[in-house]
Amino acid sequence: MNTKQKIESLREELRQHNYNYYILDDATISDYEFDIKLKELQALEEANPEFFDANSPTQRVGGAVTKNFKTTVHDSRMYSLDNSYSKEDLLDWETRVKKMVDGEVSYICELKYDGASISLTYENGKLLRAVTRGDGVQGDEVTANVKTIHTVPLQLKGDYPERFDIRGEIVLPIEGFLKMNEERVENDEEPYKNPRNTASGSLKLQDSAEVAKRPLECLLYSIVGNNLNITSQFEGLEKARSWGFKVPQEAKLVSSIDDVLEYVEYWDEHRYNLPYEIDGVVVKVNNLYQQDELGFTAKAPRWAMAYKFKAEQVSTRLNEITYQVGRTGAITPVANLEPVQLAGTIVKRASLHNADQIEKLDIREGDEVFVEKGGEIIPKIIAVDLSMRPVNSVPTTYISKCPECDTELVRLEGEAKHYCPNYKACPPQVIGRIQHYISRKAMDIDGLGGETVALLVKEGLIHNYSDLYELTVEQVIPLERMAQKSAENLVKGIELSKQIPFERVLFALGIRYVGETVAKKLAKHYKSIDALMFASILDLVTVDEIGERIAESVVEFFNSEENRQIVERLRSFGVQLEISAEKLANQTDKLKGLSIVVSGVFETISRNDLKKLIEDNGGKVSSSISSKTSYLVAGDKMGPSKLIKAENLGISILTEKAFLSKLK
Ligand code: AMP
Ligand code: ZN
Repeated sequence: MNTKQKIESLREELRQHNYNYYILDDATISDYEFDIKLKELQALEEANPEFFDANSPTQRVGGAVTKNFKTTVHDSRMYSLDNSYSKEDLLDWETRVKKMVDGEVSYICELKYDGASISLTYENGKLLRAVTRGDGVQGDEVTANVKTIHTVPLQLKGDYPERFDIRGEIVLPIEGFLKMNEERVENDEEPYKNPRNTASGSLKLQDSAEVAKRPLECLLYSIVGNNLNITSQFEGLEKARSWGFKVPQEAKLVSSIDDVLEYVEYWDEHRYNLPYEIDGVVVKVNNLYQQDELGFTAKAPRWAMAYKFKAEQVSTRLNEITYQVGRTGAITPVANLEPVQLAGTIVKRASLHNADQIEKLDIREGDEVFVEKGGEIIPKIIAVDLSMRPVNSVPTTYISKCPECDTELVRLEGEAKHYCPNYKACPPQVIGRIQHYISRKAMDIDGLGGETVALLVKEGLIHNYSDLYELTVEQVIPLERMAQKSAENLVKGIELSKQIPFERVLFALGIRYVGETVAKKLAKHYKSIDALMFASILDLVTVDEIGERIAESVVEFFNSEENRQIVERLRSFGVQLEISAEKLANQTDKLKGLSIVVSGVFETISRNDLKKLIEDNGGKVSSSISSKTSYLVAGDKMGPSKLIKAENLGISILTEKAFLSKLK
């Protein structure tokens, strides 16, 4: 096999595995084996850029950055759908349909997926572009982002038409959504509101590598184009499936409106068992010839009708408003409800967000309230049933003191939430900070859990995370549910955390607004905690992606005498407070402020290593040449257009050798 054949065969093999895993849900190799093969393909493609293919499985990892999405006109318009809410509505629709077409009419019922609509264009079996609905006539081209979604085939199989559009919905399955939110909460970020908005927001992210991290899916429901040789909607769905698209199996062919209603009722009740959200059912005339006869109104097809589910709402009693204190001291009011069945689960609590929300709803203890599952996931209180308000009801006064430590609360200008300023001694803050410190993404301390941390604090054995390093087995054994073995593991786990690299230690410190990514950026820039401690706000904001809010928070953190003492204690125990010598040895500022483009194939270094080298030396790797480019490092076989552009703009072109010796 020559290189080209090898590349082709790897691509084909990976495509099939991708299909098995994401569409059929039936993997035939392990993730590990898949990764090995993908890496092999990546290496081959990198070494042989002449065989580049924009639809290769390697392109799914993303990386392309789009600043402005190109407006693109749809080949055929993307219509909206008319809505119906009752049997009468559907019967009226049927009457109109039957007036306009001859012969029997059968219907196909489909689920109405709740996400962001998308139109994919395929030419010769390859994904050409992906465009959002926009205003229906034109939308934004988001191809780079959509390519990262594994259920979107980049290369079709079977007997597909030469060119066609296929429409569907990009959704974020509930499990993935909840997982993303868990991470956000862990990073002290506001959780996303619902899967639909998160899905459509994802399509507009500038960095496709970010999109690749999100577990999005694309569910398809309609093929459009000329000479497609398809006679019914049902056949269209089956064909799309055979070409490799993800088409949910729930679509059903029926012959009467009564059957349609049965389908609606079934899914209204069972929708919570689906892995993704739906907000109704779509009924379509099955026969495409009849669809043609019916045509479109200005806004929607006459041959289709949506039936939207009512957001499920129940009323229940608000027993009590309590207040939670988070690790950063933020106060969240919580409605404790008389337990009630709603949308497939029992709801006992709902967030009230903040004082404004309570005031707006004029919500009071003892009120009868309407609860809805917003986006079917997080319960929220919609309104108070004033007709049921007890005569002795009293308006809610928001707490003015911390429910945990009795400190006077503060509310900063422009912020919705109240805070407990007792950073030092408010128990949920003290415990929360240590729990954050030991968490998986921070110091990842094995053998120590959140509850044990709370116990250790309550017993007075620790007051902050630096105290962990002085814990002894003897001290821990008497605690509830501890034994010799588990106590030893705990102490060992703490000891091992001294190896955790600086960037994660920085995240573990729990500085407000310093999540994982920010911690990495700061660690890379400042290289040691000492340098960071002395950085001013003005200096901090010059770091890429660090804004004023983060800068202020960092400075405030290190302004505290107590925090500085804790850091010194960590240092004395041997926790990593600077980038390791090995990593540092490879880092310089030699390329600081330079924007460098790399192109072609290199002899002594792989393209990825070259890019890393540039970044480690403080330079920025950019993918396209502009007047801001400082150098073009040119390898073998680089594209002629880049060369011409660089020459035209008068940009210095360096060979691999010249560039490497520059760094020596
Ligand atoms: P609306 O946004 O309420 O006007 O509803 C129209 C949208 O429903 C379309 O733009 C599609 O994105 C979406 N939709 C979801 N599932 C389907 C389906 N099975 N058939 C047609 N449209 C659907
Ligand atoms: Zn407090």
